[in-house]
Amino acid sequence: MRYESRGLRFRKALVPVLIIAGAASLLALIAGVAVAQLAAPAIAGAAREGEAGTQVAGQQGGGSESVDARGAGAGPTGSGDVDGLLPDGTTPFDDAQPGVTGLAPELLSALREAARAAEAEGITMTVTSGWRSPAYQQQLRVDAIAEYGSEAEAARWVASPEKSVHVSGEAVDVGPWDAAQWVADNGAQFGLCQVYDNEPWHFELRPNAATTGCPELYWDPSYDPRLQ
Ligand SMILES: [Zn+2]
Repeated sequence: MRYESRGLRFRKALVPVLIIAGAASLLALIAGVAVAQLAAPAIAGAAREGEAGTQVAGQQGGGSESVDARGAGAGPTGSGDVDGLLPDGTTPFDDAQPGVTGLAPELLSALREAARAAEAEGITMTVTSGWRSPAYQQQLRVDAIAEYGSEAEAARWVASPEKSVHVSGEAVDVGPWDAAQWVADNGAQFGLCQVYDNEPWHFELRPNAATTGCPELYWDPSYDPRLQ
């Protein structure tokens, strides 16, 4: 779960901004939040450059190929973070977030259908991560290697930008826990399947799941032949 909330690292940079704004007045605080949200992509970009600029830049060429491979016109839209970082509380219906709109259309519509059904049972679904730019995925990879100490161990949690199903828009991470549990229990009828045993929040579209059920789980992403 830890790498899934790495966006927080970027957002922490906003805290001083909010404190200053809050000291001025409540109105200024509200305005500060709006300004901070607009500024978030720039800050996130700056953070990436500072931390791993060379690696990210080096990967972008190869990574952009996989984005192009999704087909012209299928790219993400919206005024939110251009790399796909999502604010807390983002829902599958948030058309302003590239992290949501960049999902494969069939996956997104299945997700929305499931979200409505969950809501009818009193469970509100959020999207903690969806589509990611190659640069964002590479940053997650670099962070994971630093955190887990080796490329092999990091591969158990974070795929490379070239192989990631988040970069191709074919995977979504659902929160909070009760909603992820709901999708694990009820998602198959919508074609939504958990894929990895160690990632109970990560779902992909398996269109036949309603009739055949979901496939066997991989223990973790390093066992997934697509990521080899
Ligand atoms: Zn995922």
